[in-house]
Amino acid sequence: MDETIASSLTRSMSEKPVDKANPPETASGYQKQNFVEIGNQVGFDPKRMGKLWQALSSFLHVSLPESKSDKVETYGEIRKISNKIGEALSELKNLQNGTMVSSGIGSQVEFDCYCGRRNKRKEKLLSDGKIFNCVNPSCKERWRAHLNEGSFEFESVTIGVKCESCGDETLFPERWLLEMDRKGIADFDCKCGHKNYVRWQLVQVKPVMPTEMPLSDS
Ligand SMILES: [Zn+2]
Ligand SMILES: [Zn+2]
Repeated sequence: MDETIASSLTRSMSEKPVDKANPPETASGYQKQNFVEIGNQVGFDPKRMGKLWQALSSFLHVSLPESKSDKVETYGEIRKISNKIGEALSELKNLQNGTMVSSGIGSQVEFDCYCGRRNKRKEKLLSDGKIFNCVNPSCKERWRAHLNEGSFEFESVTIGVKCESCGDETLFPERWLLEMDRKGIADFDCKCGHKNYVRWQLVQVKPVMPTEMPLSDS
């Protein structure tokens, strides 16, 4: 998760546009301009918000007794619940003090996912090889950033499945395959026309023991 995405900040704008023909040459030249505040964002810790959200939603799940002797804890945790709700409310009240929410300042890179959704990422939070999910919650596409001559390119993360008939690989979004129901069967048509059926299977493997490692000369 991007931890700086919700940092506190104030955004201001100079009263007059910079004279393009004669721009200030130093930072203090810019600071001499009159600035008007256009908004402020009250920072929050996304991880803490996530935990609060989880805690609150867990109270919505009621565990059913398995036998008559089990104690049913209906609203048994009233105090815990009201403490958490109080915590969440004070966090929300604090956020009310802000007048805007932004994803921070800094250059960002953009690309379109196969689902059509535009994905925007802060450049300084990306690194070569970084993997992230498409922002569209109903899309299973996952992307890997590649740093190429100073600019980022994005490649979808896939798993190739070989055709039973011709051996050619068909690529699937990694997340779609990994999240597939373990008991379910998926089918796909290969370019050769063969219909393939696949499902997850647990297989026996031989672990490589240290003694079986090839001996080195040194
Ligand atoms: Zn997508
Ligand atoms: Zn085939």
